Amino acid sequence: MTLFEKIIARQIPAQIVYETADILAFRDIQPQAPVHVLVIPKKPIVRLSAASDEDAVLLGKLMLAIRDVAAQEGLAEGGYRVVTNNGDHGGQTVDHLHFHVLGGRRLSWPPG
Ligand code: AMP
Repeated sequence: MTLFEKIIARQIPAQIVYETADILAFRDIQPQAPVHVLVIPKKPIVRLSAASDEDAVLLGKLMLAIRDVAAQEGLAEGGYRVVTNNGDHGGQTVDHLHFHVLGGRRLSWPPG
């Protein structure tokens, strides 16, 4: 069971900010911006490259959940960044698909 599955199962604590039947969002434990939320499917998809065509509706719901979480966090007007780290070169450390939602300050580009 991955760390994020344990958060979904309430086996380890997290600051949950949004939840639906399919999706959970909680604050990153090491925030890289004033707002740093992780938005994840409850289904244990390992990473974006492991998603299947059958996940199309769920992936769409994730994008709309990101929109709603960003608005709830007060980021809609100022803007924000959405990131998914996919695999080794992408810097992924938890093998459960997740989208970082970062905002509350002007972010630099490109990433390292
Ligand atoms: P990634 O490096 O893209 O796989 O992102 C994993 C993220 O999970 C990192 O930003 C970590 O800070 C975050 N993280 C690790 N453990 C926890 C936890 N217990 N609660 C919330 N976020 C966590």
